[in-house]
Amino acid sequence: MGKARRKDKEGGESGTSSDSKLYLEAAVLERKLPELDLKLLVELPAGLDYNEWLASHTMALFDHVNLVYGTISEFCTVTGCPDMTGPGQRVYLWFDEKGKKTRVAAPQYIDYVMTFTQKTVSDETIFPTKYANEFPSSFESIVRKIIRLLFHVIAHLYAAHFKEVWLLGLHAHLNLTFTHLTALHNRFSLIESKETEVLRDLEIALHLCEDMYHESGTYTSGIDPEGREAETKSNNGDTVGGEIKT
Ligand SMILES: [Zn+2]
Repeated sequence: MGKARRKDKEGGESGTSSDSKLYLEAAVLERKLPELDLKLLVELPAGLDYNEWLASHTMALFDHVNLVYGTISEFCTVTGCPDMTGPGQRVYLWFDEKGKKTRVAAPQYIDYVMTFTQKTVSDETIFPTKYANEFPSSFESIVRKIIRLLFHVIAHLYAAHFKEVWLLGLHAHLNLTFTHLTALHNRFSLIESKETEVLRDLEIALHLCEDMYHESGTYTSGIDPEGREAETKSNNGDTVGGEIKT
């Protein structure tokens, strides 16, 4: 399969070729979850522990992101994806153990994300499963980090591999995974808006944020409601850290 996706004009109706986003085409905007169910999906049930709730959603999101990425991973190569990109030329940098920012190819970055997440959710001292084991005080910040990293993988899937996802018929599943993460984040404010803004246009297209912007009624483009420019200019990748230390 070709890698020339940026030149593709699928449907041809969403602007210039370089800005064309297949994932915003009406035909692929399925998410298979009614609006009401979306809220219920993430609403903390009475009597359930908040950390327990976060843990179960985090693990579910990890599984789904892993599943979708796994199906297209053969197309995500060091040569095809030399950078970990998101929409709008965003480039995510990896922070190594010493806190040094490094530019790595997308498959490497995603491997780090998956390895880190797998290791973390399997760690009994962080994600306790046994009776009497408790969540650490840093649990929420660890979850925020995982959610942010999973968001980067989702952003890369949309930016670089949506065509393959779509051809495999997995676009509704990816949309649902994105919807799930967004609903969870909207309910519990888990990641910063400078992270999520790269997919704001998709949030709008999928009707995921109408409550937030209902009042002004003017929020129809991919521009931040506060009028800020997205921090996406650089191709040197310096504006956006892939991993903010927590
Ligand atoms: Zn890739």
